[in-house]
Amino acid sequence: MDFRFTSEEEAFRKEVHDFIEKECPKELRGKDVNFFQNVGSLLEWRKKVASKGWVAPAWPKEYGGAGMSVMEQFIYSMETARMRAPAPIFIGGLAVAVIGPTIIIYGSEEQKKEHIPPILAGQTMWCQGFSEPGSGSDLASLQTRAVKDGDDYVINGQKIWTTLAHMSQYMLLLARTDPDVPKHKGLSYFIVPMNSPGVTTRPLMNMAGSHEFNEVFFEDVRIPTKNLVGEENRGWYQAVTTLDIERSNIGSAVGQQQSVEDIVNFVKDNAGNGVTRVKQDAGLRAELAERYLEAQVAMSLSMRVVSMQAKGMIPNYEASAVKLYSMELNQRIANTALRVMGMYGQLGRGAKWAPLKGRQEFTYLRSVANTIEGGTSEIQRNIVAQRGLGLPRE
Ligand SMILES: Cc1cc2nc3c(=O)[nH]c(=O)nc-3n(C[C@H](O)[C@H](O)[C@H](O)COP(=O)(O)OP(=O)(O)OC[C@H]3O[C@@H](n4cnc5c(N)ncnc54)[C@H](O)[C@@H]3O)c2cc1C
Repeated sequence: MDFRFTSEEEAFRKEVHDFIEKECPKELRGKDVNFFQNVGSLLEWRKKVASKGWVAPAWPKEYGGAGMSVMEQFIYSMETARMRAPAPIFIGGLAVAVIGPTIIIYGSEEQKKEHIPPILAGQTMWCQGFSEPGSGSDLASLQTRAVKDGDDYVINGQKIWTTLAHMSQYMLLLARTDPDVPKHKGLSYFIVPMNSPGVTTRPLMNMAGSHEFNEVFFEDVRIPTKNLVGEENRGWYQAVTTLDIERSNIGSAVGQQQSVEDIVNFVKDNAGNGVTRVKQDAGLRAELAERYLEAQVAMSLSMRVVSMQAKGMIPNYEASAVKLYSMELNQRIANTALRVMGMYGQLGRGAKWAPLKGRQEFTYLRSVANTIEGGTSEIQRNIVAQRGLGLPRE
């Protein structure tokens, strides 16, 4: 595999670099930024990114995207991470990263006209209504029903773990339209306005103390038939595309390399007696060396997926491998960081003496969810074992 950029790719990387250097507000740059405390600056930055057409790097130009190649998108994300500027997901959110591309592929012209421009303008937020209390890994077993009634579908059921449902105007919902066929064949995809009568959203706090996801209940919720996305009962196959798009967005090898670098610098600065701790515990040095190597491996796995996509190939178990490896690596890096930091490592964001402003303590708690969201590590292992290694199903 050739890791060098072509001269055009290098020129594009420099363009992104110079743009961030010149235009990105200083308070959004660096390792200690809390975006939620700088929403004003983030919106200002969003406008500047929009002026370059880079809010939706992957979308076709006809829908207002930048129409970037796979390699350009990768360079764009990588340079943003290297310069510690807000990641593209903070600019566009789930609507740009996952929902918009799904609507572009499967939506009607009317749906595209209605929903794509407000997503690009940052006027609407979306959530993804897949998981239910009894259906996560086995998503196709979901029970939320959508029953046709005249010009409407009537929806009853419950979703769970719905990220940002409390801030969203719309949900892309997967519901059962035919209970009498094999489970994968009776599902359909819908656009549901979150202010529809009968929709109730209840918060769920995660163990890192932040309110990201929710439970959403549907009680006789009526939506017009025009809100069906794609064909009735083909929802499963469309949702698989959404999950592919989601998994290819998860994971940031550059961020992991930077985390390791931050921890090493923390030790070298002897902050919280880092040097002393590493001298007393040779195992810690070895651990840091391993994390450093693993972050390089994560980068190689990501590059493999990107180079396959750039050649028009569709990564399959390779995307699962990088998701699995990177998300578990997040946990290992946070574990090592907390060992290096000793008792101080337990101090969280906002605490005066928290090392690295509590970032690693937050990652320690939050990274547990990394190995669940977008499909658990066990499911990714199954995919690698079956599709990658050709082993039989259990
Ligand atoms: C932070 C976060 C955000 C999320 N956001 C959303 C969202 O926006 N929208 C949404 O719809 N969902 C969301 N989810 C839900 C997520 O997709 C599910 O939690 C995930 O798919 C696992 O499903 P489950 O929780 O029902 O666990 P289960 O499927 O019940 O799994 C329980 C355990 O059994 C294991 N297991 C299950 N089946 C197998 C198997 N065949 N082989 C081996 N092991 C198996 C699993 O790996 C897991 O360890 C989010 C989850 C998290 C953590």
